[in-house]
Amino acid sequence: MKFCSNCGSNNIEHKIPDGDNRLRHCCLDCGTIFYENPKIVAGCIAQWQDKILLCKRAIEPRYGAWTLPAGFMENHETIQHAAARETFEEATARASNLELFAVYNLPHISQVYMMFTADIEDGKARSGIESLETQFVEEHQIPWNDLAFPIINETLELYFEDRKRGKFSLHVGEITRKPDRTIHKVRY
Ligand SMILES: [Zn+2]
Repeated sequence: MKFCSNCGSNNIEHKIPDGDNRLRHCCLDCGTIFYENPKIVAGCIAQWQDKILLCKRAIEPRYGAWTLPAGFMENHETIQHAAARETFEEATARASNLELFAVYNLPHISQVYMMFTADIEDGKARSGIESLETQFVEEHQIPWNDLAFPIINETLELYFEDRKRGKFSLHVGEITRKPDRTIHKVRY
């Protein structure tokens, strides 16, 4: 952080403010402390018949890999709206009947994923600006080794396990990437 977004000063110090215990960017001119907090990512497992909607990413990171439609929640919207909006932006598909399916902590990148099951009642989808391609796929067509992020693998594994059981429940867990790049998953 180079400039204070409150007063425009470049007199910024990364320090622990009085009474705090974490490093923050602090403006030494106007006294503003800039708190950074985790971001929420909302997305859908969008179902149509026995298939679910995958999008091939047209953006970095993981350009060209497959993913579920998901993205950062915006200010002033609900989490359900964010999930449906991302599904429309990435796949031009209208998600309905959203049910919370998985809440996952990704503490190493300060994100929380909230994934919903949803229906695409008309089965319509085509690539939005962030996708190279969209497809409704059956379980055996999932490109497990070409999914964009470990959270996408985890969400889809949970989804198909539940579907085989005939019952969907809420899943909570965490995925961490250690400094040696290994992935650790915990299902709470
Ligand atoms: Zn300032």
